[in-house]
Amino acid sequence: MCAVEHDGTRTAVVRGSVVKTERSDSLRLMTASRVIGDVTNTSLLALSVVYVVCVVGHVARWWSLEATFGSNWAADGFCLSFKDTMAHSHLLCFYTDTLAALCLAWLSRRTVTAGRPELKLVGDNVVGIFFHGLAHAYLWAFRERYSTLAPEEAMLPGALPMEAAIFCVVGFLFWFPFLHYQTPNPLWSSVLQSVLHTYLIGWVCPFILVFTYANTILLFNDGCGRLLCGLEGKRDEFYALAALLYSTPIMVATWAEPLLCDDFLVNWGGHMWFDLSIPTGAAVYYIVASSLPRRDAKHAKSV
Ligand SMILES: [Zn+2]
Repeated sequence: MCAVEHDGTRTAVVRGSVVKTERSDSLRLMTASRVIGDVTNTSLLALSVVYVVCVVGHVARWWSLEATFGSNWAADGFCLSFKDTMAHSHLLCFYTDTLAALCLAWLSRRTVTAGRPELKLVGDNVVGIFFHGLAHAYLWAFRERYSTLAPEEAMLPGALPMEAAIFCVVGFLFWFPFLHYQTPNPLWSSVLQSVLHTYLIGWVCPFILVFTYANTILLFNDGCGRLLCGLEGKRDEFYALAALLYSTPIMVATWAEPLLCDDFLVNWGGHMWFDLSIPTGAAVYYIVASSLPRRDAKHAKSV
């Protein structure tokens, strides 16, 4: 750090200069990280709004997305491959999400005990990804039983009480882990939102909007939580990396699913690729973020 070690006075001056330069570099990095993270998260929220407007307008028949989003998406609201087989996209999601949850659990096994909260995002995904896959297994079973349900109808009004009860349990398990562990929501908000969204998606939301509804709620909680509170309370380089490496691929997959469905994705697993974008983004973030120096005290007042 010090260029002249035998001269005490000069050493102090040089050391002071170096410290000042380091502080200046650190401040520039913090500012750039904050701007990149804020702009990315805001852009992702804007793209979510555009997606919702496009889809709701299609369902309300203000316009048709069939020429753009394709006939497969228009029929199901998902890109579903290999129907009538045990490799149906909903089941592929269940298989791959379970495997991905196990992989992330292994990857993140020491992040908290190692004192690296900036990597906590990875472990926080584990339970949510597993129950995301379980929700897909439920959707598969439900569709097998109610194959004639029209895309504009809600799922549960015609279901048996036991089916509705199972839906409530699966729905709550789908929402709560994400809303509570992956966002800064307080417990009451996570519980209230989980109950509300389970009800709305089962009894009010048209079946074709199930994915759009669930994805929008998740993206808004994720994006707004980060914009308001940063990543684990800070807007540093890890905040920017999480926006670029974790949140952005999910949005890319959101748009790619309908746009590439008929010509490509429907032959290769369909919605499974959207599901895989979540653990893949988390894993890529982990690999990049864990290779950087850990957060330290100099970032403590960054928010
Ligand atoms: Zn999914």
